[in-house]
Amino acid sequence: MNDWQWRLAIFFGVWLTLMLAEHAIGFARNPALWTRAGRHLTMALLGTALTRLLLPLGAIGGAAWAAQQNVGAFHQIAAPVWIEFLLALIALDLAIYWQHRATHAWPPLWRLHRVHHTDAVLDASTALRFHPIEIALSMAYKLAVVVALGIDPLAVLVFEIVLNATALFSHANVQLPERIDRALARLIVTPAMHRVHHAPDALRTNSNYGFCLSIWDRLFGSFRGFRHRPDGEGFGVAGMVADESVVAMLKRPFGGLR
Ligand SMILES: [Zn+2]
Repeated sequence: MNDWQWRLAIFFGVWLTLMLAEHAIGFARNPALWTRAGRHLTMALLGTALTRLLLPLGAIGGAAWAAQQNVGAFHQIAAPVWIEFLLALIALDLAIYWQHRATHAWPPLWRLHRVHHTDAVLDASTALRFHPIEIALSMAYKLAVVVALGIDPLAVLVFEIVLNATALFSHANVQLPERIDRALARLIVTPAMHRVHHAPDALRTNSNYGFCLSIWDRLFGSFRGFRHRPDGEGFGVAGMVADESVVAMLKRPFGGLR
């Protein structure tokens, strides 16, 4: 299998497993599961198409180029391969954490990123719900980080797979037993932790930014607890109607800024 086949197989395997879990131990009612899945998958496909068009090299291609040219920090040091691999994964996750904070802090980026937040329901498919321009910008940023750090192409591939899987998991509409959720949250971002980030009020939206590792929020002071049980507050952006069609999502960044 090539890297894309691996990525797709693991992605759909994780998504399907989570859908079964959502059916069995759902957190909130979700009558539009398949409609939402279709809409959000369409957004992801549009984002992938735009990114391939603008940046055909991709992050893995960029990593291969950096290795060939011997550029980037990791290519200048001689550490054991497994240490470099681990450091690369941690560094990429840290970079994504700060990227996510920037999308909330800087109004032009928030215009794009709020498409992800104007979702009135939260389920695994929300992890696919990003504006195509945000996907392309995110790839440009990742490409720059990968080249600057000289990250190994295999580490980039593993990171992409892990990030996709953990993003699906943290958005999943599942109510894990509190004990298990808390135990997992020591290392990774859990559904109860990420639900805080999708609360309608700005205070909580601007917290719990992590996608994969949960340590960054605790380390940089953006951790704001969990939502273990339904609290009647739902999800979305206060003062904004939820976007319920692909066209509405595509147009959202160009509407009025809150
Ligand atoms: Zn966000």
